[in-house]
Amino acid sequence: MAIKKVWIEEGCIACGNCESVAPKIFKVTDQSHVIENAPISEYEAQIKEAAEECPAGVIKYEED
Ligand code: SF4
Repeated sequence: MAIKKVWIEEGCIACGNCESVAPKIFKVTDQSHVIENAPISEYEAQIKEAAEECPAGVIKYEED
């Protein structure tokens, strides 16, 4: 199973945790967003960790 897509749903509280866990994937300004052309395949463990830890539960990803 490989992550092929990552996105943020509505409800981010901009806590900054996802950027701390995976700074190559997430950038948090007024809310979090996924960096364009982020190297998803190199940071799958960090993406899963960020999604698990997100206090708002808004980090979603799709595996194939
Ligand atoms: S961890 Fe969740 S709530 Fe916090 S900045 Fe990232 S997406 Fe937003």
